[in-house]
Amino acid sequence: MKSARPVSGGRSGQHRKSSRKPGRKLGSRNKGRARQRNLHVLAGCLLALLVILIIAAAALRAARERDLNLRAQLQAMEDSGPVRWQQEGAPYIDVELLTPNEYSRPQIAIDSIDHIAIHYTANPGASAIANRNYFENLAFTQQTKVSSHFVVGLDGEVVQCIPTAEISYATNERNVDTLSIECCHPDETGLFNDATYDSVVKLTAWLCTRFGLTEEDVIRHYDVTGKNCPKYYVENPDAWAQMKSDIAARIQEDYVLQENLQAE
Ligand SMILES: [Zn+2]
Repeated sequence: MKSARPVSGGRSGQHRKSSRKPGRKLGSRNKGRARQRNLHVLAGCLLALLVILIIAAAALRAARERDLNLRAQLQAMEDSGPVRWQQEGAPYIDVELLTPNEYSRPQIAIDSIDHIAIHYTANPGASAIANRNYFENLAFTQQTKVSSHFVVGLDGEVVQCIPTAEISYATNERNVDTLSIECCHPDETGLFNDATYDSVVKLTAWLCTRFGLTEEDVIRHYDVTGKNCPKYYVENPDAWAQMKSDIAARIQEDYVLQENLQAE
């Protein structure tokens, strides 16, 4: 660019002295070139602006699509996940599925869901997640084959270990058609505290509505094998009858909740 200046500028004394006309001509030609160059620069700027606009529009469209996808995902979660289940009457369910392994989650499809079996952990004071992690570790310890679909903790927390479409190792010959719920308890009597009791009643009732069962389909481990499980509710048949009656009442409440949800 610099080397072109002396020619385009026409500032040298020689040029002015020898002839003015060619100078003027040169000047107007240079002005034309300058205008042309300016036009090129302007066109370049416009092109760059256009490219920037196109990129910005694409970025905006991508962001909007991401937003829509996220909303669809959240909606799907609400339609089928723990939030929706709570609206249907379930307690909050923390889904912490076991890693598939032959000792606690063999991934064998359940034949049907005809019963829900209540158990006690026989491990006073242990939490729901500790029980879940015990099942998980059986993959490494290989001590025994045992697990449960759900564990209800001392604070009423619920942990899901196995999907309801698969069997658990909890209720012996009924594993093929039974969902199992292990309940934590504070002491050797095996009596559930209020938080655990409330949660297991809610969870069992909600599962009954989900799989078309009634309180008559809710069983104890004892009813299958004669094992003293869940201890307190085997040794105190009245307490068991009361739990089934509480589950029956809750089933009716859940059906009302679910009808209202569908009407929304
Ligand atoms: Zn049991």
